[in-house]
Amino acid sequence: MAAFFPISELSAYQNKWTIKAKVTNKTPVRIFGQGKKVFSVELLDGAGGEIRASFFADAANKYLDVLQIGKVFTFSRGTVKVANKQYSTSNHRYELTFDRDAQVAEVAIKDGEATEEYKVIFNFVDFKTAHSKQVPCRADLCAVVVNFRPVATINAKDGRELVKRDITVVDDTAKSIDLTLWGENAKLPDSNFEGKPVVGFKNILLKDFNGSRVGGTVDTSVVMFKPEVPEAKRIQDWWSNGGSGQSFASVTTLVALAVKPLPCRVDLCGVVVGFKPVATVNTKEGKELVKRDITIADETGRSMDVTLWNAHGQRPEEDFEGNPTILVTSVLVKEWNGGRAGSTLEASMVVLKPDVPEGKKLEQWWSQGGSSQSIVSMGGSGGGGGAAAKAEHCTIADMRMKSEAVGEQAQLYKINARLSVVQTRKQGEQMPLHYKSCCEMKEGQYGKLPCNRRVDEAGFCAACGVAGKTATRMNLRCQFSDFSNSVWLTTFHEAAEKVVGMTADKVAEVEGANGRDMLDSAIMKGYFGQPMELTVRAKLDSYNGEPRANVTCIGAAPVDRPTRGRKMLADIQDMLAATA
Ligand SMILES: [Zn+2]
Repeated sequence: MAAFFPISELSAYQNKWTIKAKVTNKTPVRIFGQGKKVFSVELLDGAGGEIRASFFADAANKYLDVLQIGKVFTFSRGTVKVANKQYSTSNHRYELTFDRDAQVAEVAIKDGEATEEYKVIFNFVDFKTAHSKQVPCRADLCAVVVNFRPVATINAKDGRELVKRDITVVDDTAKSIDLTLWGENAKLPDSNFEGKPVVGFKNILLKDFNGSRVGGTVDTSVVMFKPEVPEAKRIQDWWSNGGSGQSFASVTTLVALAVKPLPCRVDLCGVVVGFKPVATVNTKEGKELVKRDITIADETGRSMDVTLWNAHGQRPEEDFEGNPTILVTSVLVKEWNGGRAGSTLEASMVVLKPDVPEGKKLEQWWSQGGSSQSIVSMGGSGGGGGAAAKAEHCTIADMRMKSEAVGEQAQLYKINARLSVVQTRKQGEQMPLHYKSCCEMKEGQYGKLPCNRRVDEAGFCAACGVAGKTATRMNLRCQFSDFSNSVWLTTFHEAAEKVVGMTADKVAEVEGANGRDMLDSAIMKGYFGQPMELTVRAKLDSYNGEPRANVTCIGAAPVDRPTRGRKMLADIQDMLAATA
């Protein structure tokens, strides 16, 4: 039998090699320069070596249909080059490219042979290393599942339905990582995750989210329960011999939290000094969420409000009575009314009277005088609606920074900026710039207003159940720029008409009469034209179950030059006075 070159030993110093490998993944074909094709595959050999290989031009034409996931081939006459970590999904230092010289031949596999030969080989890194790696990167992890949440379905931007499951895993470096399992790995029955099993994870994509290291499965990931490898045995022994009693939280004190840049994600341990009744909140999607606000304090003499969502909030009231200690992991902390407040995430764990050193210390502090100490609240002024009513004038750079830290209460900003781009294409295809909306009058929160929902091609409104009067509306993605920065904002109808200097009816008319390309160039004529005063609204929304700032442009008007000029003169005089 011919000996094949091990993938793990491929390097730029070898040029004569033939590898035998299974295709484990394949990208769609992409077009580059003058219609040439490129696609990539991921290869796995019998020794567990993995590498990415890209096929260009002639080689792409020849092998696009030949290379199929799950089949085994021999490959030679490719070029070895240093991997571009941004695209490479394997851990290999190098990647392969094939062009017209490529030699690829399919290897017939007998039944059963494939699974024998191409077994998963793990290259585990411990969590300490996983936490310090430069991200994004891939890693294999071996860990105990200490927490798992039910399977959830979410909708991707492109409309596909995705299945996910969030779990929390720990290893013997006493660190934890939140992982999101996708697809088949998420659908495994709950019983698999029960009883704190040791699991081997191959090819986990690690990244940072709100300042925390998190991971997720990708197409090529393998999730193996109780794998028969020495590392799994080591982790199991550690867990059985005291590991399960360790604390995996890395608790941040409130005084340290007070100076952390926001938003951030931290583990908190405190004494419950106050709590509110359970309340319900309706999301935009019409889902009802349950929450409970509690106030926690720690021995640094600070207190902060934390919102416990869903199951965490639904705990019985007695749980929070009598100033118990509480450990809350993965708390998202944001600016709120000028102060700071926290909120649990799906990945959060809430433990009352936790058996951890921080908890013991807090109990001691509380009983030995802490309860009578004066405590400084980290919350804001609590000015209520006032903050939203008053728009703050700022630069784009300031607005971007401030909107990142916004809470559930909408904040308004005014920026002076010019339109720099309108998104007219998405992934190479023209996007519709206008649509027909329903004009049925409806009684709502703010009185009687048109329904404004998008109607289908026949003019039918699904919400009202009629095909009534319609109007043309616009909803554009616009990039605005000022001297400090630029920003992409979803720009609603009224603002969009001002920004492009055309009514939605006019836009539809230009497209109807002259075609879409003429419409695009008419819009382009307005780039960097009239300076506009934009009203921007920022609000914390949930996106796929995670909080995210939603920043939109809700109003636009040409800048009033005399007013603006006087304001700038006054600013200059202030600056001169300050330096004099
Ligand atoms: Zn309607």
